[in-house]
Amino acid sequence: MLQGSTITPRDREGRELGDILDRAVSGNRLSEEDALRLFRVSDRSVWDIVHAADERREAVVGSQITYVRNQNINVTNYCINTCGFCGFSRKPGEEGGYFHNLEVIREKAALAKSRKVTEICTVSGLHPDFDADSYVEIITAIREGAPGVHIHASNPMEVAYAARKSGITSLEVLRMMKDAGLGSLCGTAAEILVDEVRRVICPGKVSTDEWIRIIKEAHHLGIRSTATIMYGHCETVQDRARHLSLLREIQDDTGGFTEFVPLSFIHMNTPLFRKGIARAGATGREDLLMTAVSRLFLDTIDHIQVSWVKTGVKMAQLGLLGGADDLGGTMFEESISKGAGARDTDYLDPAEMERIAADIGRTLRQRDTLYRLI
Ligand code: SF4
Repeated sequence: MLQGSTITPRDREGRELGDILDRAVSGNRLSEEDALRLFRVSDRSVWDIVHAADERREAVVGSQITYVRNQNINVTNYCINTCGFCGFSRKPGEEGGYFHNLEVIREKAALAKSRKVTEICTVSGLHPDFDADSYVEIITAIREGAPGVHIHASNPMEVAYAARKSGITSLEVLRMMKDAGLGSLCGTAAEILVDEVRRVICPGKVSTDEWIRIIKEAHHLGIRSTATIMYGHCETVQDRARHLSLLREIQDDTGGFTEFVPLSFIHMNTPLFRKGIARAGATGREDLLMTAVSRLFLDTIDHIQVSWVKTGVKMAQLGLLGGADDLGGTMFEESISKGAGARDTDYLDPAEMERIAADIGRTLRQRDTLYRLI
């Protein structure tokens, strides 16, 4: 045998990777095993994956980068749960706890409207006194304070909590929220949709099956939602691939996800990190791969967002070169990532977004929550 014709394991791996990327770039569906293979890459082939994801992004949504003018209103940080990754929640009586009454919510909503936001987001702690009516009252107060502004509120955990507290079904809660003016549901509380991981990081939260059931109920009611993952704590790459696979199955069924938002774990002030259970967040390679693999794998979710709140603006810009097409929101007020130890989470000026986009030869466009250009 000629020496020059020997195929090394490295060559074989390179060919396998090339084959996966070729299939993805031509629009063919990848398997969970393919996603796993991509997540495991730790050498310079990372750039091949990033390149392929960028090509796919161009083919799916073109070259514009979008953002939404939005503001968060976190009504309370009092919470009956104790998720290990959360640096935001407080127990009643604990220092730093707060609760905004309906009057304050109305004022904050009116202030948001005066800032020309098109979206108000509200997710809060699971207040011990809340029930389904409390969530309806919050949505109503926002609608009254900011008429015409899209309300992006609650998540499957809050819906399940409201249902339990009021002794009704999650479907009834969703109907009540929609009637009160809910525009879309937050796809948070998904974390990692693998029960073994959820038992470690958020034992009090809805199970994988419950999260999926409630998000599907919302989609079938015409309430669209975002899709998220929180990664970089104690999950494995298999868990990440499984999570993406479940999201893709949901999207195949309902088509209700507007976008996918990878949320990189902010570790500093969290019990999980302090107890040594979680690692110190994702690395830059992992952040890049999460965006790129999502673009290649989630073939029926058009929009992939970078979360500048979680990764910082510079890393977010690199994500836009690796499969992402959306910069998320201006924010104006943010407390959840800040509670976990993140810095500079309050506001990203569209002028700065413009600079980030222009620097990589792309144009910035404002959109609404449902990705209609403004
Ligand atoms: S993540 Fe949400 S449910 Fe969990 S402790 Fe924090 S506020 Fe409560």
